[in-house]
Amino acid sequence: MFILLSMCAFCLSCSTRGKQPSVVLIIIDTLRADHLSCYGYSRNTSPVIDSLAGSGIMMKNACSQAAWTLPATTSIMSGLSSRSHGAGMDVRTGRVFGLDPGMPLIATIMNGNGYATAGFFNVYLLGSDFGFHRGFEAFSCRDNGDGFARQTVDAAVAWLEDAGGDKPFFLAVHFFDVHDPYDPPDPYDRYFTADGLQGDTFWEFTPDGAVKNQERLDYLMGLYDGEIAYVDHELGRLFSSLRRLGLSDNTLVILTADHGEEFLEHGYVGHGRTFYPEIVHVPLIFSGSGIENGVGVSSACGQFDILPTILDYCDLPSPEWQDGVSLFDTDARDNRVIPSSGINTGEDFEQVSIRNIDELLIWNAETDELEMYDLRTDPMAREPAAQPDSDMIERALYYWSTPCHWNPVLLEDWQVAPILHDLGYVK
Ligand SMILES: [Zn+2]
Repeated sequence: MFILLSMCAFCLSCSTRGKQPSVVLIIIDTLRADHLSCYGYSRNTSPVIDSLAGSGIMMKNACSQAAWTLPATTSIMSGLSSRSHGAGMDVRTGRVFGLDPGMPLIATIMNGNGYATAGFFNVYLLGSDFGFHRGFEAFSCRDNGDGFARQTVDAAVAWLEDAGGDKPFFLAVHFFDVHDPYDPPDPYDRYFTADGLQGDTFWEFTPDGAVKNQERLDYLMGLYDGEIAYVDHELGRLFSSLRRLGLSDNTLVILTADHGEEFLEHGYVGHGRTFYPEIVHVPLIFSGSGIENGVGVSSACGQFDILPTILDYCDLPSPEWQDGVSLFDTDARDNRVIPSSGINTGEDFEQVSIRNIDELLIWNAETDELEMYDLRTDPMAREPAAQPDSDMIERALYYWSTPCHWNPVLLEDWQVAPILHDLGYVK
């Protein structure tokens, strides 16, 4: 039986805790949940993350709000669905939108409530051009930080040593290593690959767009898993530093991913194109004082729940408009449907997905095609159900009709198109 502290029980522990808690938010780009040992993976990719799950709560059915970095991370930082915040790509026009400069973000709220704030990000899409710097007193973002997990942890630890003791802090750390190309450092490049195998660390495509060298799928997946093990090791250094600095006892740690990754499960590789489980099923783990240990929760939830969960834990007021709920509030948390939208293939179609604890509906908003899956018997969505559920269709239509609540900033194509191309998003 899985148990989550009820809101009342949690608030009781919060009020007796005394000092205002600090928060560390960890975002591992492109990390699908089912490649972590604690989510049932057969490989031992994640001993440190497993330990975090063992000391806290693991949401077993967390769902990303979009299929790629920009809109999904905006949902993490804003507590809003992709439709509500509007950041991302209009696939009909190829235009890209950054964050509304007036939209409350977790960093602006924490900083406005007296927290020291720092953000260390590793891809251009999460930089100041897009608006992710807001609310952070210390902020850095590499254009392409693939391979920089060690340096990112070093920077975060240096900031903690300097600023982490005087007042409560909010630290956000983003890792880009798991994103392709899959090129973990020695010895992680050999952890899960067959002896003697070498070769390209990224996908090769034929002129018609099909994946070349499919026999190398296992090799690339082994490298992907090696990247996870490398980041997991670096997280161990971050957590050790929190303990060494005496900061771990009163710090909430939340770990998640912006989206997952496809390895030909539905004919594609990478991400940004579909809403199948390999893309939308992301890890969501949180641990801290007053939170029960080793608890798994099956309720469907989303990235947009992270902001209200942090604010609830810290006993801070929520923004007026949000789509997520505190995951400590069992009444609000259970029996919801979780929406996702936001792709970036540059093709002329839009997609929406809706999932509850048992079902996944994917609706093509351009062609009206529907796919529905019973996740109880088909957790990886391989065989569509014969008859889509009318209630789920209604919920998808309702979500798609949601007007954008903010005014996302149009970024001129010349600024972002080459970057998106370099990251493999636009062919
Ligand atoms: Zn991403």
